[in-house]
Amino acid sequence: MADCVFCKIIKGKMPADFIYQDDDLVVFRDTNPIAPVHILIVLKKHVESILKVQKKDQKILGKMVLTARKIAEEQKLEGYKLFFNCGKLGGQLVFHLHLHLIGGWKTLEEYHRWVKRRVEEGGVL
Ligand code: 5GP
Ligand code: ZN
Repeated sequence: MADCVFCKIIKGKMPADFIYQDDDLVVFRDTNPIAPVHILIVLKKHVESILKVQKKDQKILGKMVLTARKIAEEQKLEGYKLFFNCGKLGGQLVFHLHLHLIGGWKTLEEYHRWVKRRVEEGGVL
């Protein structure tokens, strides 16, 4: 997809802060983080969203989640959130399948302060 921002990153036509990649997935930092750590686990193949995945994609979805867990462990995140924004009305902005990993709060107090601030900002997560 010529005009897809994540395809451009995957093809090396746009820079990104890469963390990991293998044959199926690429992992890089979000340029507009909503938490102390905000990382994207991105399918290399251009699939638009969860709305478009098929039964045959079950295995790769599992791999995305387990890769996110591995990255979270490497980043020493004790607790975190994993989420997909699914479709326009699910808040999806980039139509190339990706899993969000957010975390980096050091204490429960810090996490609660983050939640309060996000609510004040009108964020859903
Ligand atoms: P969505 O709302 O589609 O689930 O999330 C898309 C995410 O991609 C957003 O969190 C946004 O900040 C991030 N993003 C958009 N453009 C770029 C980019 O060019 N590079 C990186 N690293 N992240 C991007
Ligand atoms: Zn793409």
